[in-house]
Amino acid sequence: MKVIFVGAGPGDPELLTRKAARLLESCQCCVYAGSLVSPEVVALVPADAEKYDSAGMTLEETTAVCIKARERGIDVIRLHTGDPSIYGAIREQMVELDRLGIAYEVVPGVSSFQAAAAALKTELTAPEVSQTIILTRTAGRTPMPAGQELERMAQTQATLCIFLSVHNMAEVAQTLSAHYGADCPIAVVYRASWPDQIIAEGTLADIAGKVAKAGIGKTAMIVVGRALERSGAVSRLYSGEFTHGYRKAKHE
Ligand code: SAH
Repeated sequence: MKVIFVGAGPGDPELLTRKAARLLESCQCCVYAGSLVSPEVVALVPADAEKYDSAGMTLEETTAVCIKARERGIDVIRLHTGDPSIYGAIREQMVELDRLGIAYEVVPGVSSFQAAAAALKTELTAPEVSQTIILTRTAGRTPMPAGQELERMAQTQATLCIFLSVHNMAEVAQTLSAHYGADCPIAVVYRASWPDQIIAEGTLADIAGKVAKAGIGKTAMIVVGRALERSGAVSRLYSGEFTHGYRKAKHE
């Protein structure tokens, strides 16, 4: 018996890995985060399987599900939105499973920052502009460790993908303006890849108003940085002068 932490992806069931889909379709016991995992993904779990929405459960209760499953010799799928390694709160579950001697493994998933970039049809890196992507958030019930505040992240001028923060949109935009400039492009994607996905695009100066107007208050990804601009240097990867292992320069 084992527990399998499975990345549910951002919402669209077609963005599940084949492994995740296979595991869900054959599972007998699934614990999922109902507040974020799309119902279309949960629907892949067979009707006669046990299903638990972890939203209303404590760590002790979800652990108890695993203990009972071990007694019956069945695996537990622990379904987490996006990729389980990002704000997934899997560490504390793994500590408990280690303590109990229950084996586990992880199946990665498409994260919401990737789904947001796809929805925006953008590349998050841009030559000479941003060669770094920072996945971050603002403080909620979880405080930000010293030195990792948004202000500090902004000093890097990297592309920022900000989770769990759209309710603070005005404050986020204001903090970032000082470093990226008020005209810097920013996009907010609500429920990327869901049927009701909403995109709000603008600048740091006007995004808060657009997000408020669209009624976006949760489950959104904030993507900001000059990499979102269409202009600027192009990658040399496909240029004729740039050789790499698979292609020789045209003039050679
Ligand atoms: N492990 C998840 C993140 C969980 S934290 C992942 O890899 O995506 C929850 C936050 O993720 C939300 O507040 C929101 O910022 C973001 N998020 C999750 N699903 C999303 C989606 N479909 N579209 C946009 N943002 C999403």
